Amino acid sequence: MTDPRRVTLPAPTGLPDASALPRRPRVVVVGAGIAGLAAATGLAERGVEVDVVERQPYLGGRVGGWTEQLDDGTPVAMNRGFHAFFRQYYNLRTLLRRVDPALRMLTPVSDYPLVDAHGRWDTFRGLPQTPPLNALAFALRSPTFRMPDLLRLNARAAAPLAAVRVPDIYRILDDTDAETFLRDINFPPAARHLAFEVFSRSFFAVPSHLSAAELATMFHIYFLGSSEGLVFDVATANFDVALWNPMADYLRSHEVRIRTGVSVREIRYGDRFKVHCDDGEDLDADGVVLATDVAGLQRIVAASPTLGDDAWRARVAAMATAAPFVVQRLWLDLPVNADRAAFLGTGGRPPLDNVSVLDRYEREAMDWARRTGGSVVELHSYAVHDDTDLTGRLLDRLHELYPETRSANIVAERVLTRADCPRFAPGDFAARPTVGTPHDGLVLAGDGIRIDLPVALMERAATTGWSAANALLARFGLAGHDLHSVPTRGRFAPLRRLAERQLR
Ligand SMILES: Cc1cc2nc3c(=O)[nH]c(=O)nc-3n(C[C@H](O)[C@H](O)[C@H](O)COP(=O)(O)OP(=O)(O)OC[C@H]3O[C@@H](n4cnc5c(N)ncnc54)[C@H](O)[C@@H]3O)c2cc1C
Repeated sequence: MTDPRRVTLPAPTGLPDASALPRRPRVVVVGAGIAGLAAATGLAERGVEVDVVERQPYLGGRVGGWTEQLDDGTPVAMNRGFHAFFRQYYNLRTLLRRVDPALRMLTPVSDYPLVDAHGRWDTFRGLPQTPPLNALAFALRSPTFRMPDLLRLNARAAAPLAAVRVPDIYRILDDTDAETFLRDINFPPAARHLAFEVFSRSFFAVPSHLSAAELATMFHIYFLGSSEGLVFDVATANFDVALWNPMADYLRSHEVRIRTGVSVREIRYGDRFKVHCDDGEDLDADGVVLATDVAGLQRIVAASPTLGDDAWRARVAAMATAAPFVVQRLWLDLPVNADRAAFLGTGGRPPLDNVSVLDRYEREAMDWARRTGGSVVELHSYAVHDDTDLTGRLLDRLHELYPETRSANIVAERVLTRADCPRFAPGDFAARPTVGTPHDGLVLAGDGIRIDLPVALMERAATTGWSAANALLARFGLAGHDLHSVPTRGRFAPLRRLAERQLR
């Protein structure tokens, strides 16, 4: 938290602990991804009785980690894929600090280069942190973005980028797709593949299927709105070891009951909530946090006719999931060259979106590589529409980028195909469900839930989780928790005024 202009939303006031109430309220949190764990933490710390119910056998949701055995019986760490923990993820970091105040569980990645189809490299190393110098410096030293490109930018059409205010930006840009927006502002096509497509790909969408408002908000969060910089951290060990086992211990120390491998089927609403689980148990509760992925939320709501009203149920039903993504992890019998980056983003090299070398930073992969003399490499492909020989094509791209891997044998391989990230298509914003619902005691959280703050992905999950806890705490008369965000509007008054004039 180094940005002096970051915004703090003070905690709602109330009693410090539920022990001061006539009866301790009970809340069921459904889903133990980042959103559910943030909500459970916020509630349990105020003395609320909390049950967490998670369908998977592990915590962390899409950032979950577990152990698998290779064919020779060697246990290896496995997870759903590389995750970048940016410095502007204030609410996520607040959560993680509960178990590791100095955040030693994270380590910085000094650079993450981007390479395009023609072999042009961009880098984030050594950029100034202060906006707009960071964006200017990135643009000016980029081989894909030249001074004439900067002069050709359509300032009027590009103005919203400098004046992002949430939710106004959605009113202006949500009906436009990111590709059209980039074309309208004359963003150079070569640079599109890199700087911007990387953003849209992190929403698991191609630019033509992503809301331009979402892209502009990303640009604000990472480039123009925050001085935390573009450096990110990664977990030093598999996610279960580094993040969630300690978090589970912390929650249990606050008397939270964590049920993994149990799915919530239905919720009945009467005097209290009755949460029906697939192990046959019914949990009575004063409040419920639904912190599932989109499909999980839709299934529960569809099976729970007493929940919400028609309009809200229609909004939940209208949510959608982005196209599938594939994560291919390879244990190779040879190392990659010593100068390979921990993380490399790629543009214009379908179906590959990025390559990570896990033995550069993750303890378990490091140990395996040290023991065997090999390496652990992960390839990601997002917005997959054609899966014909996908892993073969990904491997070809790896060979093209890191030719030393051509002679490596694959000791083991794991391929995950999933489709559980929310869709942020043009026009989706207005109907997106919010944390609040038609019932005071029922709240939603997750990276697909609307919250009118400039946050995205893991940070949106954490922010909606804390916010869901705050809503229930306020209902019980208990104090909430501070929330933080990058500045909630364009950072520089002159740029903002210029942008606002352009928009009139
Ligand atoms: C490959 C990949 C890379 C990513 N990289 C980044 C990155 O670099 N930076 C970044 O910020 N974000 C990244 N993300 C996005 C990030 O993972 C998500 O934004 C975040 O994890 C979402 O958390 P969540 O709590 O909202 O949802 P989830 O993590 O999906 O948690 C929802 C939980 O609900 C559970 N559930 C569903 N239905 C039920 C039910 N009926 N009963 C009980 N439990 C249920 C699910 O099992 C799941 O554990 C990436 C995602 C992927 C897939």
